[in-house]
Amino acid sequence: MSMSAFLLLPMVVRLVVPPGRPGVYMLGGLESSDGSFFPRFVGRSDSDVQSCLMHHAQIPLFNYFRCRSYKSKEEAYHMECFYWHALFEFGKLFNLVHPDAPSNSRLKCPYCSEQRLSQTLPHSTA
Ligand SMILES: [Zn+2]
Repeated sequence: MSMSAFLLLPMVVRLVVPPGRPGVYMLGGLESSDGSFFPRFVGRSDSDVQSCLMHHAQIPLFNYFRCRSYKSKEEAYHMECFYWHALFEFGKLFNLVHPDAPSNSRLKCPYCSEQRLSQTLPHSTA
């Protein structure tokens, strides 16, 4: 599925998001200058990203969404972490709580450990 932005309406969600698949989505708006999508919220579903987005469409905090479905919840979790970290560093994220790993999994965020690694490196004082 492409990562273009769509209007967050139940009808649109049903059309563009396959049911019963794990997936990651971003909610946001469009830049007034050039119409490009700016994400403000990152979310994931381990089993059915369509129904998750349908839920968001009932109470839309944001008008647009992007969504991508994955074969496994592991893959979806890693992608959610990737987007969450990228947007968190950008300072525009609405949901500031780090994504939870899928229940009954021992998955760890690969990007958190990367960060911890770089924090332990000696800082250059030059
Ligand atoms: Zn992380």
